[in-house]
Amino acid sequence: MCAGVTINRLDRAGRCTSLDRATSSKRRRYGGGQSPGPTTTSRGPPGRYRKTSHRIWAEERLSSSLPNTTEFSLCSREPLPDTCHLVSRLTLDPCPNKDKKKRSRGRLISVDTSKAKSNAEILRKCFDDLGWPWREYRTGRRIGCDLYWNALSFNDNETVLSGQVNKFPGLIGLVKKSQLTKLLYQMKQLFPTEFSFFPTSWIIPDEYHKFYQDVMKANDENPNYKPTFIVKPSEGSQGDGIYLITDPKSVSIQGNIRQSIIQEYITRPLLLEKTKFDLRVYVLLASLNPLRIYISQEGMARFCTLHYEEPTNQNLNQVYMHLTNYSLNKHSINFVHTDNLDGGSKRTMKSVLRTLDEKGVNTDQLWCKIEAIVVKTITSLLPDLNVCYELEIPAKRPAGPSCFQILGFDILITEDLEPMLLEVNANPSLRLDYEYEASPGVVESVPSPVDEEIKIPLVTDTLKIIMPANRLSSARKALVSRSCEHIPSSRRVLAKEEDQEELVLDCLEEIWPKKYSEKYEHLRLIEKVAGIFHLFLGVRESQHMGATGFRNFCRRAKVCIGSLTMASVDIMYIDIVRRWNLETPAGTACGMCFGAFLEAFFILARRRFRSEETLVCKVKSLVDFCELNISEGPLWPSHKPKKGLSKRLKQSVVKEENLYRWPCTQNDNN
Ligand code: ADP
Repeated sequence: MCAGVTINRLDRAGRCTSLDRATSSKRRRYGGGQSPGPTTTSRGPPGRYRKTSHRIWAEERLSSSLPNTTEFSLCSREPLPDTCHLVSRLTLDPCPNKDKKKRSRGRLISVDTSKAKSNAEILRKCFDDLGWPWREYRTGRRIGCDLYWNALSFNDNETVLSGQVNKFPGLIGLVKKSQLTKLLYQMKQLFPTEFSFFPTSWIIPDEYHKFYQDVMKANDENPNYKPTFIVKPSEGSQGDGIYLITDPKSVSIQGNIRQSIIQEYITRPLLLEKTKFDLRVYVLLASLNPLRIYISQEGMARFCTLHYEEPTNQNLNQVYMHLTNYSLNKHSINFVHTDNLDGGSKRTMKSVLRTLDEKGVNTDQLWCKIEAIVVKTITSLLPDLNVCYELEIPAKRPAGPSCFQILGFDILITEDLEPMLLEVNANPSLRLDYEYEASPGVVESVPSPVDEEIKIPLVTDTLKIIMPANRLSSARKALVSRSCEHIPSSRRVLAKEEDQEELVLDCLEEIWPKKYSEKYEHLRLIEKVAGIFHLFLGVRESQHMGATGFRNFCRRAKVCIGSLTMASVDIMYIDIVRRWNLETPAGTACGMCFGAFLEAFFILARRRFRSEETLVCKVKSLVDFCELNISEGPLWPSHKPKKGLSKRLKQSVVKEENLYRWPCTQNDNN
């Protein structure tokens, strides 16, 4: 008997199917069809959005010289017939010299939006706001672009040669619920006290028996233990397929079930107006090497649409009471759409923090905890992310593309004011509108001031951060040179001044390296193991290490001593690889992925450094030991003695160590 009730989107789906989207009249007030009308300056509180001097200049140009010039493209949002066009609020003059024209045009910022889907709209709006001279390629471009904006993943666009891509290879897979759970637990093994910011979780079907045993054990220890659990499909989103249970037996693991996670349900969330809410915190991972992380000071608070009650068997299936997803609650009759930023069912995070502040909550402290969650979660992703990145864009190809990504962290605050991480979204919605069913069969799409307030500064700041200064200045020069005879000389000086402008950000704040690198650098230990793994991968383009590679690693790192022989290393390899590839048709032939290597590394660390007290000390010692020993070989020409290496290590290792850090910039061993 299943005690849990599916509270997925069934009822919502019912509503949607009754709506014939193909025939419904869909009226858009902006985007896709018509001009958005006045932008930046008319929106938001006064002074919030600054007009750039280029923008002022552009508007002057628009009004003064439009009739005499050739229009490449203006602010029209009408789909253009050409494969590419200049999307800028600037009107540019035709250049008499063809070659010169070609050269200067090539220096405009080129943006491939062929895979941007609904993101293209916000991108256009932000470029407009910035007043940058840019050219949009809606159907792609044969040669490289400065910026590729993909809606889903790095691999959306196969023609990426250089420039900046708004997705990291592999990141979307790493933040799937099951994978993220694995990575967080991996870190928790090493840093137990620092990784308690997510609810206890189990991955099913693999860990179902562990889940059952854990619950039974807790029940034995405390007969009053009556937990509620939330079951969430690993690849689900928008509340899809989620249900609550109180009886562990009610999870079905028979047959071909979707991989899911079971999480302890947070039964006492912080409430506002008697309603449960969560925070969507936006984060920019601006680069991996060096690591640069920014957090947005503005985010979104999403409210349920039924007053909250602690779970009982009677209310377990009340979606609008337990799940904060906008995509679900917007179908509730209680959902409040409003243009106010501090009311309704979707609000700005700042307005919620302000309200909490007024109620006496120490919101500065709360925010610091949220920042720490962001940093720690990203450090959990980094080892695997580096492996993926290095394979897709090897460090040896400096001209290759570099990546950045906007992430959405879903945070629930408990009654005790502890923020808890629920999930990380690799593709947070960047839509600026909302749709509602105005009348049966008629869906209207209208601008959402809350979304605009949050997302436009986010994307604008992101563009400012990722666009190399020299690229921007050359694009500006291109623009100036194209139409210099029409530009008032005062403006030309201004354009020059802007090149030296300091980066002024509206909402993003650097949290790594600036704020937290010293405090949390120690969490980057597993990245070093990933670096070692990468060294011994052997076959190019593979994320799996073969048996020879593993042997090679053990031999070169000199990890075999006493009972730890090369034969036992071979057995360890087969045992671990078999377990990790149970579901894979190729089985052990698949090789050892990084997760499996890490498991082996932990086992070796435990055996090699028995006397160390904690796992983290053992792993650290093995990392140091490996680095020193591997550096013996011809691979590592630059050596430097390591300061503070323990006496015991010093005795058992060679005298020198390379300063090996991820990513490896030296030749690999094959
Ligand atoms: P999805 O990706 O489908 O949105 P989430 O993990 O974000 O899945 O969960 C959906 C919603 O369910 C969250 O926004 C939150 O309101 C609620 N929720 C999820 N996990 C928990 C939990 N452990 N405790 C309490 N509420 C939760």
